[in-house]
Amino acid sequence: MRWSRWRSFQIFVFVLGVFPVGALSSAWAATDYKIILTHPDQHLMQVEITLPAGSAVRELQLPVWNALYQVRDFSQYVNWVRAQDPAGRALPVTEINDSRWQVTGAEHGAIVDYEIFADSIGPFGAQLNSHHAFLNLAQVLMYPVDARGDGMYVRFGSLPAGWRVATPLSEADGKFHADNYDRLVDSPVEIGDFKEADFDQGGAPYRVIVDAEPADYDMNKIVEMLRKIVASATGWMEDRPFEYYMFLYHFPRGPAGGGMEHAYSTAIEVSADVVEHSPELLESITAHEFFHLWNVKRIRPQGLEPVDYTKENYTRALWFSEGCTSTAADFIELRAGLMSEAQFERQIASGITELERRPAHLTQSAEESSLDSWLEGNAYYRRADRSISYYNKGELLGIILDLQLREASGGKTSLRELFQWMNDRYAKPGRFFPESAGVREAGEAVSHADLRAFFQKYVEGTEEIPWNDFFRTVGLRLAESKNIIADAGFSASRNFDGPMTVAQVKAESDAEKLGLRTGDVILEINGRSVGEESADSVSGMNTGDTITVKVRGRGGEKELKWKVSGREEVTYDLKDAAEITPAQRARRSAWLKGEAETSSPMRAKEMQAK
Ligand SMILES: [Zn+2]
Repeated sequence: MRWSRWRSFQIFVFVLGVFPVGALSSAWAATDYKIILTHPDQHLMQVEITLPAGSAVRELQLPVWNALYQVRDFSQYVNWVRAQDPAGRALPVTEINDSRWQVTGAEHGAIVDYEIFADSIGPFGAQLNSHHAFLNLAQVLMYPVDARGDGMYVRFGSLPAGWRVATPLSEADGKFHADNYDRLVDSPVEIGDFKEADFDQGGAPYRVIVDAEPADYDMNKIVEMLRKIVASATGWMEDRPFEYYMFLYHFPRGPAGGGMEHAYSTAIEVSADVVEHSPELLESITAHEFFHLWNVKRIRPQGLEPVDYTKENYTRALWFSEGCTSTAADFIELRAGLMSEAQFERQIASGITELERRPAHLTQSAEESSLDSWLEGNAYYRRADRSISYYNKGELLGIILDLQLREASGGKTSLRELFQWMNDRYAKPGRFFPESAGVREAGEAVSHADLRAFFQKYVEGTEEIPWNDFFRTVGLRLAESKNIIADAGFSASRNFDGPMTVAQVKAESDAEKLGLRTGDVILEINGRSVGEESADSVSGMNTGDTITVKVRGRGGEKELKWKVSGREEVTYDLKDAAEITPAQRARRSAWLKGEAETSSPMRAKEMQAK
């Protein structure tokens, strides 16, 4: 996934980053869901679950998390639960804990129904309103604990006139089918009056669903971008493990939530403003989420399987599953002509600047950052001296691991071969990789090098990365410059659906003296609502400018005004080395294509076929 946490602004550190239907074993065993859009204007739905005859006692669980690595306690939105037998007689329902219910007397089958409120934004939420419905099904559908692995059907009722349903699930007679609950809830659902387009690329059909104001985007341009990305990504992996894939876009006018990956689809939400003015951001989120269909959905760390919907699922490998997905997306964009060499190198340098400016890069490792993802909803945790981002460090680890593999193998292998090896070894046979050790093993298998020191220092450990040792191999050097940047004395960040909150106030600063406190909610900066505030407009301030901040804290609302001071910060840039040897030049050229210097036999065959 990719969401706005790491794009939140910081006033004294402005650079915070300026993811087949089979036959049912037995039809009678299927769980049948009906989702009734009862009151769109009140965000209320009714869910009916028909359980087949079987055990007298059945338990139903609503997940506490899905999609985002955050416990969100979806059961808070369940207004009531009741049950009856097929003859219409009421059955007892007992609450076991805050997200599990038990139904007794269900031996002849049961119909359980409940009312649930849905108004969570973002591609990992569930929302019903008078405009549309977007459903993360794990947020609204309880599963029978004893039948989570069995076939499931879902249908939708009381659709307002003109609304249609889009989902990657297969449909027959108005019912959508999944082999099991995991597959069901890995399938986002859009219901409304959306626009759609279909295209074929390399023999596979793709479907595009867009929910946005028609004036805010050009469907032809979206399809043109998608053709380039899917051709480049499937070519890079030399694989296409799906028969059909769906892109689901929301382009709201206002803040947007990022992207969410699925095995056969992705749901992406970016603001209409980004679509118009920063199409490169739409491209990079799309490439990232599409590559996830391999990395994390199929090349999957053991820590995430089997999914436990009742509590946190810990993995040390999000630096790889998320961060290296961004690295792969960079190579996919470079190959597709969607990113230039200069843009690629600027992005790496700004990632290094972001990582080096966070003091926590010396205290929290990439693996610890992965384990701690479950803490990201908390403002204190998001402080620069408490945490790093596994997206940020993971993407950079992907870059230097790729350079290390090239150097160790004399240019014969790269990150591409590592991903292909893991795809063959784990994804295709349906196995899960043993966390970071599995990545190291893959790197060692394709390069024949010993990568223990690399993983100990930079993945498990917090040693400073000697950047130039890696970039020298492609004739680049990291240049450091010191700049005075505006320092308002505080930083702020937000959870995906929460308000902008003060995370840190610098001791002895004017902000502290005026009474700004950690936890205060920021309502406006310089007269503009921070809901619509972007990092760019805030970072436009200079030393000596007056900043006006309207906040809500324990003492009520107040407006504070003070002069922004300055602070020296290091900024990094990647520059050409003074002298570049032909070997470095050849390495760089292969690097920018995301491929080894000597083509793999598989790739040579592919080229011949063209
Ligand atoms: Zn992601």
